[in-house]
Order: sequence, then C-alpha cells, then structure tokens
Amino acid sequence: MIEEIEDCARSLGVSFFGQADIRSVRSGFLLDPDTSARFDFALSLGVRLSDAVLEDIRSEPTPLYFHHYKQANYVLDRAAHLVSLRLQERGYRALPVAASQVIDWQGQRGHVSHKKIGVLAGLGWIGRNNLLVNPEAGSRLRLVSVLTDMHLEPGDRLANGCGSCRRCVLVCPAGAVKDDPGSFDHLACYEKLREFRRRGLVGQYICGVCVRACRGPISC
Ligand code: SF4
Ligand code: SF4
Repeated sequence: MIEEIEDCARSLGVSFFGQADIRSVRSGFLLDPDTSARFDFALSLGVRLSDAVLEDIRSEPTPLYFHHYKQANYVLDRAAHLVSLRLQERGYRALPVAASQVIDWQGQRGHVSHKKIGVLAGLGWIGRNNLLVNPEAGSRLRLVSVLTDMHLEPGDRLANGCGSCRRCVLVCPAGAVKDDPGSFDHLACYEKLREFRRRGLVGQYICGVCVRACRGPISC
C-alpha cells in the first residue's frame, strides 16, 4: 500500500518521500486540537529546486526565484491533494497541509512545521540556516505534509551533518545564521525578509540566499 502511495507521489513530481510519527510534535500544530488528535502519522513530500534558478541569486531574492518558489509550492500542494485523496479512497483519514500558508504572521508559522515532520521522516536535519538539510540536495528543496491515520514506518532520524561547513553563515545578509544552530536569529531574518518585500523585490517573505548556499555538507 505505501509503495503505491509513493509511486503516486513520485509520478506527481515528488523527489523526496518520507514517513513520520508525529505524536511528539502535534501539540505544537496550529490546528484544532481535535483535528490534530486524529492523526498519528504524516507523509513528508519534497520537491527539488532548480540549481540554475538558485544560482541566479546573489545577496537578495530574484523574480526568477519568486516564480520558482510559487511553482514548487503548486507542485507540492497538488501532490499532497492527490495523495490524500488516494489515502481517503483506501479508507484512511488524510489531511493535506498547505506547503506555504502562514497562519501566525508574527511568528511566521503555518499549520504545521513541514521541516520538523521532514526531520521525523528521516529526510534531513535542521541546519545552521534553520532549514531542513537533506544529504543529497542540501536545503535546495521544499516540503509539504499529508497527515494521516494510516500506520506508517518512520524513517531513521539523521544526525546533524553540517560539520565544519559555514557557507550559510558567511552569506546571510542579516547576520541571522550563527555557528550554533540553536542561536539562529529569527527576528533578524524576518526583518530582512520584510525589507525585501517592502522594496518590491518579491511579493512574499522569502529570500533564497541561504537556500542557494546549502548544497549539503559534502559540497560545502
Ligand atoms: S532567509 Fe535570508 S535573511 Fe534569512 S537566514 Fe536565510 S539568508 Fe539570512
Ligand atoms: S550551508 Fe552548510 S552549515 Fe549551512 S545549513 Fe547547509 S550544510 Fe549546514
């Protein structure tokens, strides 16, 4: 059954597919508690971003990246929608959660943390840039989640593999990325994203500079 779901997801453009047990994190979801309680597991789906688009970025987001970001979210949301319907047809509850829909603007949070679910699914670790880092793609991917009551077998969690790499620390225009991943300066990052948006560079709070920098620890 899970192989059929994975094939379905991959046929819809998904490049990374993982299974997570979300019981340890669901109390932090910005969902109705009764809704969260219905789901013990989640699928974490990821799409690879284009290297060529990312390499066009220097110290600020570009129109090319803004369009690409929206298209990646579209691919993810469509995949999550159709995968959730496939699960529903098989008799399971399945809730697709939007790839990029901010619910708490102050805290810049969506309904769930896709990257935390990705970590629980074994797709990567939280790097110095506060993003999920995948061993193959670095942070050059985007994620979406499908919550479900279908029993899943979680992937093995990956240890932080940033090692001595500091590429994202060196390029962040806000100075938000620190050597200690736990010291990431959320406010400094958010203020820089607000500045980019205020200047009309992009229509959302995005940047892409530390996404470009992170090709994974092997190439760093
Ligand atoms: S998104 Fe931009 S401002 Fe925020 S941490 Fe990454 S490089 Fe810095
Ligand atoms: S660029 Fe290097 S230090 Fe930064 S998150 Fe990626 S692997 Fe970790």
